[in-house]
Amino acid sequence: MISEFALIERYFTRPAPTADLGVGDDAALVRIPEGHQLAVSTDMLVCGRHFLADVAPARLGHKCLAVNLSDMAAMGAAPRWFTLSVSLPEVNETWLGEFSKGMFALADRFGTELIGGDTTSGPLNICVQILGVVPTGQALKRSGAQPGDDVWVSGTLGDAALGLAALKGEVQLSSDALDFARARLEQPSPRVALGIALRGVASAAIDVSDGLLADIGHILDRSNVGASIEWERVPLSNALRSHCDTERQQRYALSGGDDYELCFTASPRHRETIATVARAQVLTLARIGVIESTAGARVRDGQGHPVQLASHGFDHFV
Ligand code: ADP
Ligand code: MG
Repeated sequence: MISEFALIERYFTRPAPTADLGVGDDAALVRIPEGHQLAVSTDMLVCGRHFLADVAPARLGHKCLAVNLSDMAAMGAAPRWFTLSVSLPEVNETWLGEFSKGMFALADRFGTELIGGDTTSGPLNICVQILGVVPTGQALKRSGAQPGDDVWVSGTLGDAALGLAALKGEVQLSSDALDFARARLEQPSPRVALGIALRGVASAAIDVSDGLLADIGHILDRSNVGASIEWERVPLSNALRSHCDTERQQRYALSGGDDYELCFTASPRHRETIATVARAQVLTLARIGVIESTAGARVRDGQGHPVQLASHGFDHFV
């Protein structure tokens, strides 16, 4: 059995060249570049709630960092450093090795360094805090949407919900579709480059973690506006289209969580810029609706009929 400190040393200590001081002291030290603000966010993943106990540890390592990178993306911030607090039921070195490999692979892709954390024994629980930087005044907030702005979303929606339903045996998928949907659920790609490219372009932004309608609802509330969404324009993957009827497509794409795409608003005068960003990043950006002054989100289908949903998205307490 290895000690707490040997465990930290072996699995969670890596060079952090851009920090003044990383893992190993009572606090890490970092410097915020001149003319920038520090963006700080944290997201906790609880076993049984945010992930299934048997998830591959490398994918879990990826996801616990990815959901935090996604918050930086939604702010238009460049992620720089993160801390990792873990509560572990046991020391399983194979599990820890895989977990840290998955996490550091993603950290390396985004140039983000682990600079500290906390390690205790207890029920499996993983909490990452992420620190990023953004030029002063340029962060993408939830509060800037204006009537007349377009509503945009990146990628495709509903795939993570499809993956979860498949793992629970609620839908049957072809093996290709299962691999795709499962990767969307377990290894989301945070849209960091998109968030940065949208500085000065998007009037408001949020990442889709709890379901499109729930998350766009936060933009609408903060901005004191409403929105009309056209269901036909909501981007869906072939996997979702070909394995689910319309009712299920709507449920997963509009109220399923965990997609980690960005939903943002922008003035119509930025349409060309946004199309250029989409091409440069080889990422679909779909214009799905418009901001209006009447509060609330209205979704209409191709015939102009309102789309009704039982729930708008995931909430831990209701
Ligand atoms: P303290 O008792 O001062 O809080 P700890 O003994 O908890 O310090 O941690 C020792 C060092 O290891 C600290 O620098 C802390 O940030 C780091 N650390 C602890 N757990 C982790 C972890 N899971 N990942 C990264 N660094 C960690
Ligand atoms: Mg401590």
